[in-house]
Amino acid sequence: MGENKSDSAKSNFLARMSHEMRTPLNAIIGMCTIAQATSEPERIADCLSKIQEASANLLGIVNDILDMANIEAGKLKLINAKFNLSQMLQNVVKTKNFNLNAKRQNLILDFDPELPSQIIADEHRLTQVLDNFLSNAIKFTGPEGTITLSVKKIKEENSGCTLNISVSDTGIGISKDGLKKIFSLFEQVDGGMARKYEGSGAGLVICESIVHLMGGVVKVSSEPGKGSCFGFEITVEMEAPAEAKDTMASDDGLKYKKLSIILAEDVEINREIVMALLEDTGMAIECAENGIEALEKYKANPSKYNLIFMDIHMPEMDGYEATRHIRAFEQDAEFAKYNPRLQLERPEGIPIIAMTANVFKEDVDKCLSAGMNGHLGKPVDIEELMKKLDELLLTLP
Ligand code: ADP
Repeated sequence: MGENKSDSAKSNFLARMSHEMRTPLNAIIGMCTIAQATSEPERIADCLSKIQEASANLLGIVNDILDMANIEAGKLKLINAKFNLSQMLQNVVKTKNFNLNAKRQNLILDFDPELPSQIIADEHRLTQVLDNFLSNAIKFTGPEGTITLSVKKIKEENSGCTLNISVSDTGIGISKDGLKKIFSLFEQVDGGMARKYEGSGAGLVICESIVHLMGGVVKVSSEPGKGSCFGFEITVEMEAPAEAKDTMASDDGLKYKKLSIILAEDVEINREIVMALLEDTGMAIECAENGIEALEKYKANPSKYNLIFMDIHMPEMDGYEATRHIRAFEQDAEFAKYNPRLQLERPEGIPIIAMTANVFKEDVDKCLSAGMNGHLGKPVDIEELMKKLDELLLTLP
């Protein structure tokens, strides 16, 4: 009694989420047990790939929950930056190939030849929307069905460009009643159907909020038994093709060797992961287990290091405070006296990149205002990590 509709939808949602999380967790725990009990390399490799798949699934659910919490609090924000549109589209499609092949589905890419190359938008969020539409299309379309990703330029004005983006499929479609529900927070088309297909039911709500923030509206047309189409229009800023500052030319695998970095991170397994991800680069990595250690290491030999990866939550001294101390030290007259060359080469001080599980815009802003230069979310994505290192290499003398 007294529980209103939204409360009960919310507790249903929480129950569904905890069920959704148990499924990949079960897989991870079970596969670890199997792997530990066998010495067959093939069996172990199979367990590892299942653990990887289940972990990615779990990460997706955690991210959905965070996004939902932010949407409810009106705190979802975009982080706009310049990126290559066709590269981004190719990347999204690449991640879907496995599932498309498994269901022998056809993917038609209907891209306007006139698409701008560089645009300014939130690449991560746009990717998230397309990824969600494509995953749903694959999930709710039978074997040998057809899915079309269409991206069209419909207007160009000054430096702005209006894009129409849609994903259509020849799948099961959605009933009129269902269409009313798919965008309401914490609701699903129908419990029975969702159970058959799995899924949090949060994806489309998040997509709608993202598209809304980008100034668009998600439009859905669907006919049961025939298929569905999810699309939207957004206007983005265009950027003339960037000056050829070619990183590939120096891509000889040895380019990272000259880097020496400090990794400030208190959790051992996190240090181990970053060290393993970077092992092949040959760069020198020195670890610090808290902010004080990172600060002392840097102060002892500032010209030795090119970069600091800084965790935020650490005992003794957190990442924000360590960064403030480092910046204050670099402003110090003594530093200027003993490191005149460094002062000229990097007037803004040593690059510091936050490496943290706090991934909201205000967290990023807090890192920047403490004096850091960038931000990487945890779990660390190897491609993003390498991108940051490449950016750093471009700035080195
Ligand atoms: P999830 O797929 O995780 O349940 P979504 O928010 O992405 O969550 O989708 C909500 C519901 O909308 C789905 O459960 C499904 O019933 C319906 N739906 C979404 N996309 C499609 C599609 N392409 N074809 C048919 N039904 C769809």
